[in-house]
Amino acid sequence: MAILDDGLSPEAMLAFYQRLYPFKSIFHWLNHEPAPSRLFVNREFAFTLQGDVYLRYNSFANADELKKQVCTLNPTRFEIGPMYSARPRDKKTVRPAAFKPLQRELVFDIDMTDYDSVRRCCSEANICSRCWVFIAAAVKVLDCSIRDQFGYKHLLWVYSGRRGIHLWVSDQEAMELTDEERRAIANYLTVVGGGKETKKKVNVRQGSKPLPPGIGEFINLLQGVFPPLILQDQDSFAGEAGAEELLALLPANAQTEPLRKKWTANPDKSSEEKWDDIRNQVKILGKATASGKLLLAAMEDIVLQYTWPRIDAEVSKHRNHLLKAPFCVHPKTGRVCVPVDPTRIDEFDPATVPTVGQLLKEVDEAMVINNEDGAEGAQHLPGKSLFSQHRSPRKAVSSHELGEGMFSLHDLQPSESRSMSAYAFTDRLPAFFPSRR
Ligand SMILES: [Zn+2]
Repeated sequence: MAILDDGLSPEAMLAFYQRLYPFKSIFHWLNHEPAPSRLFVNREFAFTLQGDVYLRYNSFANADELKKQVCTLNPTRFEIGPMYSARPRDKKTVRPAAFKPLQRELVFDIDMTDYDSVRRCCSEANICSRCWVFIAAAVKVLDCSIRDQFGYKHLLWVYSGRRGIHLWVSDQEAMELTDEERRAIANYLTVVGGGKETKKKVNVRQGSKPLPPGIGEFINLLQGVFPPLILQDQDSFAGEAGAEELLALLPANAQTEPLRKKWTANPDKSSEEKWDDIRNQVKILGKATASGKLLLAAMEDIVLQYTWPRIDAEVSKHRNHLLKAPFCVHPKTGRVCVPVDPTRIDEFDPATVPTVGQLLKEVDEAMVINNEDGAEGAQHLPGKSLFSQHRSPRKAVSSHELGEGMFSLHDLQPSESRSMSAYAFTDRLPAFFPSRR
C-alpha cells in the first residue's frame, strides 16, 4: 500500500491507526497495570471525525476495543479525559450524581501563541527553531518545578504536533488531585499575568523584596536563557518601540530618566547595549540603595516576563478537561504528537518530527526490503531501520513486543540520531507507570 501524500487523507489516517498507532502502549500508560482497571475502562475518549463532528463519552474495555473503534470511526484525532465513577459510554443511563470525574493525570499545555507578545521571529500559528527556545526554557522550569517542588516522578512530555507541548503527570497523588488543588497548582505556576494592555505582567513581590522561593530558584537558569534569546536573537528591545517597552517595565521611582535620555539620543542601540545601560545605572545608584535594589528587582522581573513558562491554566484546572492523546496526528501539519525527552529539549526540533505520510512511506519501503530479503515480511521490521536515514544500529523489534500493528515506539525516532531520544518512548516507558499503593 503506497500512500505518498502528507498523510492527512482519511486513507492515510486509517493506515496510520491500523499499522502504526501504539494502542497497547497508550493502554498501559493510562491503565498503570496489565489488566484493565477503572483507570482505563471508565476513561473518557472523545473523537473528532472528518467534518469536525465531535463524539464525547466513549469508553472501552481494553486496547483492542479502542483500536477497533478508532479504525471504524477513523477520527482526525482523539482526546483523553478523566476516569469517571461509571463508564462514560453508560452516561445516559446512570444518575447524574453517579457520574463524576474521579481521577485524571495532572496536565499542562504550553502554546507558542501565548508568547506572541515577546517573540519577534514568528506569530500566531507559525513556529521556528528560534522561538522553540521559549518552549525549551518553559520545559526546563516546569519539569524541574513539578519534580522538585511537587515531588512527582511520572512525567510525560508530548509535542502537540504544531506549536506547543503538553505535560502529563501520572503519579497516583497527581491523579487524585481535586479541581481546587489543580487550580492552586496552576495559579502557583502562573507568574506572567494580565492582558494585552498590561505592560508589567510580573507582579509576584512587593517593591524590591526577594522573589518567592518557588520562582526565585529558577532565576539563575532564566538569567542564562535571557541574554542569548531575548537580547541577542530576538533583540526584543531594539528601536524606539523596544526602548519604550523596556522603559515601561522599569520602576518610576528608580531614577531611570538618564536611560530614557540615552536611548532617545541613540535609537540604534541594541537590546544588549540597553540592558548593559540598566546594569550600569544600578552601579551608579549603588546596589544597596533603595533605588538600586528596585532597579535590580525590576531586571529580574523583566527576565521572568520574557522567559517564565506561559501555561494555559484553564487546561490544568479541571479534571474533566480533554487533551489530545499522545501519538495522534496534528490535522494541520500531519505531524505525529511524539513524546519528548525533557533532558534533551534543546536538541528537539519540531521541523524534524515525522509526518504520517513520511512514516507510512518508510514502513512501505521497509516491507519491500524485508520481502526482497525473504525475511519475516510484515511480522518483523528490518533490524537496520524503519527510517532510511537511521544512524544507529539496533535490534529488530518484533510486533508482539508491544503487541501492535507494525512497529513499536522504539521506531518512532526522528531521522537525526542526535535527537533520537526525543522519541525513544519505550526505553523510558516503565518510568511513567506510577507504582500502585
Ligand atoms: Zn519563530
